[in-house]
This record gives sequence, C-alpha cells and structure tokens, in this order.
Amino acid sequence: MLRLTDIKLPLDHDAAALKTAILGKLGISAGELQGFTVFKRSYDARKRSAILLIYSIDADVSGEARILQRLQKDPHVGVTPDMSYRFVAQAPEDLAQRPVIIGFGPCGLFVALVLAQMGFRPLVLERGKAVRERTQDTWGLWRNRKLDPESNVQFGEGGAGTFSDGKLYSQIKDPQHHGRKVLTEFVKAGAPEEILYVSKPHIGTFKLVTMMETMRRNIEALGGEIRFQQRVENIEIENGQVRGVTLASGEQLRSDHVVLAVGHSARDTFEMLLERGVYLEAKPFSIGFRAEHPQALIDQCRFGPSAGNAILGAADYKLVHHCRNGRSVYSFCMCPGGTVVAATSEAGRVVTNGMSQYSRNERNANSAIVVGISPADFPADFSHPVLAGMELQRRLESRAFELGGGNYNAPAQLVGDFIAGRASTTLGAVEPSYKPGVTLGDLNSSLPAYAIDAIREALPAFEKQIRGYAMHDAVLTGVETRTSAPVRIKRNEDDYQSINTRGLFPAGEGAGYAGGILSAGVDGIKVAEAVALSILQSRKKTV
Ligand SMILES: Cc1cc2nc3c(=O)[nH]c(=O)nc-3n(C[C@H](O)[C@H](O)[C@H](O)COP(=O)(O)OP(=O)(O)OC[C@H]3O[C@@H](n4cnc5c(N)ncnc54)[C@H](O)[C@@H]3O)c2cc1C
Repeated sequence: MLRLTDIKLPLDHDAAALKTAILGKLGISAGELQGFTVFKRSYDARKRSAILLIYSIDADVSGEARILQRLQKDPHVGVTPDMSYRFVAQAPEDLAQRPVIIGFGPCGLFVALVLAQMGFRPLVLERGKAVRERTQDTWGLWRNRKLDPESNVQFGEGGAGTFSDGKLYSQIKDPQHHGRKVLTEFVKAGAPEEILYVSKPHIGTFKLVTMMETMRRNIEALGGEIRFQQRVENIEIENGQVRGVTLASGEQLRSDHVVLAVGHSARDTFEMLLERGVYLEAKPFSIGFRAEHPQALIDQCRFGPSAGNAILGAADYKLVHHCRNGRSVYSFCMCPGGTVVAATSEAGRVVTNGMSQYSRNERNANSAIVVGISPADFPADFSHPVLAGMELQRRLESRAFELGGGNYNAPAQLVGDFIAGRASTTLGAVEPSYKPGVTLGDLNSSLPAYAIDAIREALPAFEKQIRGYAMHDAVLTGVETRTSAPVRIKRNEDDYQSINTRGLFPAGEGAGYAGGILSAGVDGIKVAEAVALSILQSRKKTV
C-alpha cells in the first residue's frame, strides 16, 4: 500500500477528481490502481475565494516497488506505515489480583479497555453515576440550579469529556499511533467513521453518551467491572508500595496496581494524596473567560463565500496574542455552533466550559479566552504551596458565584463594555447560551489585574485575525479556571509509576499527563501497557 500526501483539490471538486489526481501523481493507468481510501482530509482556507481540500490517500496499486523506485525523490509518496495496535502482554490464567483504576473518564476508559482486552479483568471505581443518570443530574444544575457534587459535568461515567464538543485532536507526539487505536475503538462504539480521516474530528455530546455505554459493556464482556458511586477516599501505602484503596463507604479493596485517572477536578483526592505522602508538584494552567460570538461571523470571516459549505462545517479559530505585560492570551477549547456550560463540581462556585452537538448548529461560537499562569502567580497566603493553584481556582470560582448573584448564574459582560472598562447593563445582538443564566455586570474584579489587562489588550488585537472579534455585543462569561490540572502527580518516564509510590500509576489530565479526550485516551493505553508489564514482572519475582 502506498501513502500519497498533499493532494490538493478545489473545495467543490467532483467525485472523479480524486481518482484522476491519484493516477496523475503516481503516473499510472486506471488499471494499475486497485483501490484507495482517504487517510486524512483537511482544508486550506487561507484564500477564502479558493479554498482547497488536502488529501492523504492510501492507494493499492500493482507494481508498487517499481512505482516507489520511480518516485523515490517525491516526499509525498511512500509506503503506508503499519499503524495497527499490538498488545504488549497477555494476562496469566491464574491472575491473583485485579488492577484497580480510579476514574472512568477517557483515560480510565482506555486503561480499562486495553487491560480487559489483554485479559487482566480490571476493576474500575468511579465516584459519579452511570451516564444516563448523570445526564439528569447535570441538567439539574443547568435547568434547576441544583448541583450534585458527585454527579455533574466533571464527575461520572465518561469523565469531563462527556458533555463536550468531543473534539478529538491533539498535538502530542504519538510515535506508536495510539491515537489511531483510540479513534478506532470510538468508531467501533458508534462514533462516525469520518473521525478516522477528517483532520479535526469531533463527536458531540449525544453520540458520546451512547458510545460510553457501549464501551462499558465491552469492558464488562471481557471480564472487567465498573462500579459507580464509589469514591476512593484513601490509598493504602506500605513501605512505599500501594496495597489497595478505601472507598467512601468504608469498604477496602486490595491491589498492588492502582491507576489514578481522576481528572483535573478531583480536588479532595489531590488533598488526600498529598496527606498520604504521594509526590505532587504545582503546575501552570490558564484562567480567563468564555467568549461568545455569532457563528455566522466566524464562518464568514474564515470561509467567505464558502460559509455554510457542508464539508467545511461550522468554522473554528485559534488565536494567540503576546501582551505588553509579558502574558500570553490564547483561545482554547473552541466550540463552533455550541453552547457555554456551567461546569462546576463544587457548591457555591461558578466555572464555564463549552460543548456542542455533532451538528454544531447552535447560533453562537464559543471559546475560552485565557491567560497562562504559573506557580509564581499562585496565592502566597495559602498553607500548602503545592495546592496553591487549586486554591486560586477555588477563590476565582467563588468570586464568580458571588458576582453572578449567588444562584449559579455566571457573571457576564459585553466585549465592548469590557474593553471600555464599564459595567454592562443590557444585552445586544448576541444572546448568551450559558444555563441557568448570566448576570450582566463588570468582570473587572473576577480575575487578577494582570489577567484582566492582558485580555483587555488581546481582544482588540484578535480583531486583526478575525474581523468582528472585538464586536461590542459579543459576550464574555466568567470564569474559565479548569483548563488543566493545577498539580502534576509525577511519575517515572519508563514505568509510569509514581516517583515515590510503587504500584501507583498517575494517568491522564488530573495527573498532568494529558490535555483533552484524545491525549487522555492515548495516555490510558500507555499506562495500561505499563500496568500489564508490571503485573507480569511482579509475578516473575514471586515465582
Ligand atoms: C464541558 C467540557 C468540554 C470539553 N470539551 C473537550 C473537547 O471537545 N475535546 C477535548 O479533547 N477535551 C475536552 N474537554 C477536556 C476533556 O474532557 C478532558 O481533558 C478529559 O476528559 C480528561 O480525561 P481524564 O480521564 O484524564 O479525566 P476526567 O475526564 O476528568 O475523568 C476523571 C474521572 O475520575 C473520577 N474521579 C475523580 N476522583 C475520584 C475518586 N476519588 N474516586 C473515584 N472516581 C474519581 C471523576 O468522577 C471522573 O469521571 C472538555 C471538558 C469539559 C469539562
């Protein structure tokens, strides 16, 4: 099989054009091309009047060696790499102890799936509820201002990514093509096939919910077990080796292999780990607001006359601005045609995030507009420096709750008013989508002054990249604080175990090793492999 890259065709090309381009690129006749599949499809919209589709193709040809020899100098023709996944181990029939996984977000899901596929019968402990019940609870906050601290946007089956845009791309290095395994498993569970080949795939919330149930059933069919409403409250450690966990119910479970895939919002778990002496360190993250604009404005600016084209879909954007005060402001987790969502897991706090459905056909585009911060910015008056970033998140979220009026409304301000430094009193052309609602006012006191200054400088600067971005009526909703974990649970690079606790495998976003659904899934696969190899190794030692 040959891989051809960089095949460019006009957006409106007809069905036959791709085959013609392949034949032309390879210099072969139609009879020599036995078949082809699209490996990747992206677009180049730099010239809005002449948008191009860019294909990577896997072509089955006769006389492959001869063609390769002839085209050896062409960097866009080569042998298709083998991206298939190979298991690193197989569980022994007499497996004495099951590995335990704490958390059933994308990371815990892939740790569990891959361990189950290798026969290790993992036991998953998830503090939240199964996804259907969890959906009810999540809507409880959005519709009725009622938060369940154990079952919400952050906690429950599927983890933080379940009520999301389901964007599935990442900039991580992935030499072993684990990302392909993640996407392939998602397709098997019901995701649209196109996620395998479009350059920026997304799934959307409704599909994710059903897929999670399918994947759970697969893990169970392979001998795994998933227990919901099982919050891990303690980790048993003897002489630097994990021996098991204690649940909120008081039940104790023994295991020498425990995966911590708890996500970035497991604040009580971070506190517990620190108390138990597990090595954690403070890490940078970002803070800011959600910005909402009309999707039509973004589509027009990015795609011009091709706005609304079905292949292009709703347009996204990526913005960055380096400010005079040394800070950088950037867009993050952009959700085309989506909604801003209430994403707190703690009572008396307000946190924003974004989600969309597969169709991405809501009226507004939303994106976090955030400022990068580091441990030097964390409160100095807090008792424990490692958790000071988490304390800052809490303080900002409490302040947002207060500014919103104390009823889970989020504080909001129009972009024009924010730039001019005056409070907003009435909405304009952009209707904010945040539920249960927003309270208009002044966001000036919602973030530290350096962050406010930076965002105030960045918004007009973004206007140069997307005309209309600084429009008066666009809405900022606060606050965006959970962009990534405020701590890293440091692990060894070779065996993925905590640097001071054997048998404990920090994984995914909460441990500081992932920053999205795809990267959390990839990390989950790597950790599953490490756990399997460690179990086999410890058996050898005891024989
Ligand atoms: C609204 C929203 C939209 C998002 N949109 C996208 C997107 O479009 N694309 C993207 O790539 N990323 C998105 N993200 C980020 C993405 O969801 C996370 O990066 C990803 O879920 C991290 O996976 P994880 O498994 O490491 O952690 P999580 O998904 O956070 O899962 C951790 C799980 O552990 C459980 N847990 C925590 N503590 C305990 C305990 N003590 N005992 C038992 N269980 C515990 C939690 O209940 C949770 O289910 C979004 C996040 C949110 C909140």
